[in-house]
Amino acid sequence: MKCTCCGRKKKLLESFEELEKDINICVECSKVLYKYQDAVKEKNVEESNKLFAEIKAKKNEKKFVDWFIKFQERLGEIDKNK
Ligand SMILES: [Zn+2]
Repeated sequence: MKCTCCGRKKKLLESFEELEKDINICVECSKVLYKYQDAVKEKNVEESNKLFAEIKAKKNEKKFVDWFIKFQERLGEIDKNK
């Protein structure tokens, strides 16, 4: 199994988080994602932009990108993709 966010392979005994069927992410990416979610909810633009850039700089798989767009829609952050 590989992290769909950063492309890193799952290590033995490591637990990945399943965001949706076939969309699994590693602990580090999960942390960044939750920090991003919090920053958006707190309307901390500087922090959310920084974390957004961090997420997008990784080797995102297409299915992760699609999931991320939906995630942003739920957070009301969709304008970022335009
Ligand atoms: Zn990852």
